[in-house]
Amino acid sequence: MADRPLDLVLLGPVGAGKGTQARRIAARYGVPHVASGDLLRSHRAHGTPLGSEAARYMDRGALVPDDLVISMIVDRMREPDAHHGILLDGFPRTVAQAKALDKELQEENRVLKLALYLQVPYEELVERAAGRWTCRVDGTTYNYRVNPPRKPGVCDVDGGELYQREDDRPDVVSERIKVYLRDTVPVLDYYRDRGILRQVDGTRDIDGVAADIEEQLEAAV
Ligand code: AMP
Repeated sequence: MADRPLDLVLLGPVGAGKGTQARRIAARYGVPHVASGDLLRSHRAHGTPLGSEAARYMDRGALVPDDLVISMIVDRMREPDAHHGILLDGFPRTVAQAKALDKELQEENRVLKLALYLQVPYEELVERAAGRWTCRVDGTTYNYRVNPPRKPGVCDVDGGELYQREDDRPDVVSERIKVYLRDTVPVLDYYRDRGILRQVDGTRDIDGVAADIEEQLEAAV
């Protein structure tokens, strides 16, 4: 493991497989996997003020306002387990969020190592999201075509119940893809200009994608 903090972001549209790959990278490199969507869903489940505010945006596939998401992530980055690195999944989704992340890392004398971009053709994304089932307990995702659970409806990891997210409905997914193209594609350019964007072909099978990511990471750390 690197002696300097290993700070990474995983970028890609809904349904590209970010969560699945992020869990593997986090386990391999010993950094916490922090998914902004999971944090927001947890706020909703606990009925916090942030959760109820976020719900208004999430249910229609819109982005939760930058100031709310940024302070949530900054708080999470200041927890002790994130002092030696963090793997962010689903954040940043706007250039303003990317700049806020840089600022927070800079204050701690840290710098983003890589931005990994999981690329999948847009035509495939609606289909992928529509077939996605998520564990209520730990957020692990399954797809009945690509990576089904061992037992239908049950998470392999913790036995939690699998459910279909409201915002994985085809109409909401189309909206999320539109938002991605408008707000998040500029984030790819932001990191490309800095020379830290690494593109990975997200259409390969899960092990193939993981091997590609590992190759990119090994070359960088
Ligand atoms: P995800 O689980 O990453 O697909 O996120 C689910 C929903 O949470 C998104 O459609 C947004 O409404 C909201 N969300 C998650 N991360 C962010 C973020 N970085 N900025 C704004 N909204 C977010």
